[in-house]
Amino acid sequence: MIIAIDIGGTKISAALMDNNEIIESKKTDSIIHHDLDNLASYVVHLCQDWIEKAHIVAVACTGQVGKHQVNFLSAKQALPLQQQLKAGFGLPVVILNDAAAAAWAEYCLGPKRQDSTLVYITVSTGIGGGIIQNGQLVTASDGFCAHIGHMSVNCPTALSVQCHCGRINCVEAISSGTSIARQASTILKTAVSCKNVFEQHLSHPEITTLLDQCADALVDLIANIKALTGTTVVVLGGSVGGASAFKERVAAKIAKLPMIYQVSLVSPITGEHADLIGAAMYAQTING
Ligand code: ADP
Ligand code: ZN
Repeated sequence: MIIAIDIGGTKISAALMDNNEIIESKKTDSIIHHDLDNLASYVVHLCQDWIEKAHIVAVACTGQVGKHQVNFLSAKQALPLQQQLKAGFGLPVVILNDAAAAAWAEYCLGPKRQDSTLVYITVSTGIGGGIIQNGQLVTASDGFCAHIGHMSVNCPTALSVQCHCGRINCVEAISSGTSIARQASTILKTAVSCKNVFEQHLSHPEITTLLDQCADALVDLIANIKALTGTTVVVLGGSVGGASAFKERVAAKIAKLPMIYQVSLVSPITGEHADLIGAAMYAQTING
């Protein structure tokens, strides 16, 4: 059996898996923004009961997942996470970026399509991506690739902002859950979460404008990605990407792009467990 773990900016999910099926699962708050040094022990503790049953640990993790370390861009800190987890679990550990894992799951389990390219975009705490080109997951040894949240896009001057990576107008700094919450809190003059914006404030006219602008920025990114990869399919995941008020805006704006930039926008068929399933499947392909 496989222990699969999904480490996000807001939540950490884990599952005991057998043949890509989830036997048991757990979910807890993420600690990466306030207690990164204890991340490995926190995750090992979460999965303690499953260690004896498993032969491998598969991890989907936010951030720049390189060969030797994970660089958590938003926390400006890096950890030798694979080594730490290997020591903590006493098992082999395979680790890849969370959106890359989700892309792999969708590519392997989704409907068979004519081409062998697929792009997965997650709009969640941040914005991440996974790219499959010619049937292969696009990777880089330092892990900085397919980090499409850090591609800069057009946006109204009022939304223009410096990203935590150092560049101006990265789409993550404009359209992520963190950014939507920040901008909505200014509009509403009270601190709100992104979830709260979608649950309670959708009819507020300035929030409507904000969400339109955030969707525009994401569609600008999607058009760039189409030009780069030629993908015909973009899978839109993450809690914000899955919110119908957001997804419908994005789909409507894609339909207005010039024809060569248009893609089919689909939801992940692996649902909220895309990262866990993809990590487990990827671990099996490279570890047998
Ligand atoms: P992670 O980034 O840990 O993978 P999520 O994909 O759940 O986690 O993204 C978290 C972000 O999504 C937060 O900004 C949160 O407020 C927002 N969010 C959570 N649920 C919803 C929802 N139902 N609709 C819109 N936004 C949501
Ligand atoms: Zn950036």
